[in-house]
Amino acid sequence: MRHFNLFLLVAAFVAFSGCKKDSKRRIEKFHRQEVGSSAHDILSDKKYQSITVEIVYMTGYKPTDAAMNNLQAMINQYCNKPDGITFTYHEIAAQGKTSYSISDVRAIEDDTRQEFTYKKDLAVYFLFLDGPSSENQGSSMVVGQAYYNTSMVIYEKSLQDNSGGFGEPELYKLETVVINHEFGHILGLVNNGSTMYHAHQDSAHGAHCDNQDCLMYWEAETGSIFSNLIGNAPIPGLDANCIKDLQENGGK
Ligand SMILES: [Zn+2]
Ligand SMILES: [Zn+2]
Repeated sequence: MRHFNLFLLVAAFVAFSGCKKDSKRRIEKFHRQEVGSSAHDILSDKKYQSITVEIVYMTGYKPTDAAMNNLQAMINQYCNKPDGITFTYHEIAAQGKTSYSISDVRAIEDDTRQEFTYKKDLAVYFLFLDGPSSENQGSSMVVGQAYYNTSMVIYEKSLQDNSGGFGEPELYKLETVVINHEFGHILGLVNNGSTMYHAHQDSAHGAHCDNQDCLMYWEAETGSIFSNLIGNAPIPGLDANCIKDLQENGGK
C-alpha cells in the first residue's frame, strides 16, 4: 500500500514538472518575436500592469545610474504600468571578443536572461557588452540594437571609448540617447508596431523618424550623434509625432 502511494506521488510530481517545462517554453517563446510586436503590451496596462527591466552587463561595462534613471523616466512617461517598474542587475564575465555579431548577442541572452514575462508582469532585457558590434564599418558605428520584441543590446565599450575625453560628450548622455532610442524601437517606433498617426517615417533609414531633433532619428544609434551631445547640448527626446503614435497604441 505504501509503495502504491509513493508511486502515485512520483507520477504526480513528474506530471507537474512536465507541465512546468511546457509553460517555461511558452514563456521563452513570447520573448522571441519581432521587434515592435509587443509594443501595445508594453505601452498599455490591459494585459500587463508592471514591468521588469533586466540589466545584464559584462564586468566593467555597467551603465551609469544617471542613464538608468533616464530610462526609468522614459518608461514612466509613456508606459501605463500602475504596479510599477522594477530594475534588476546581473553582472556576467567579460568575454573579451574583438567584436560581437547579433547571433553572438542572441546566444548570450539565451545563457544569461533570468527575467521572463509572467502573469501581469512584462519583462524586458538589456545586454551591455565589453566590445563593439561586428557591423561597424570604418567610422560608421552601430552602438545599439533592438533585436527581439523585448531585447536590446548596447555596445557599451563603444560608448565608453567615445565619451569623457576632450571634445567628447559625457558617458551618461551617450548612454541615455542609445538606450532610450532602442527602447523606442521596442515601443514600435517608427511605424513598426505602433502605427503612424501623422506620416513621419524616414523610410530610407528604416523604422526611424524624419525629425533630426527627435530621439528616433536614425543617427541616434550610430556614431554620428556623438558630436551633437558635447557640453550643454540637450539630450534629445521624442517629438510630438512619435509621442502621438505611442499614445494611440495604448501609451500615455
Ligand atoms: Zn534606430
Ligand atoms: Zn520622432
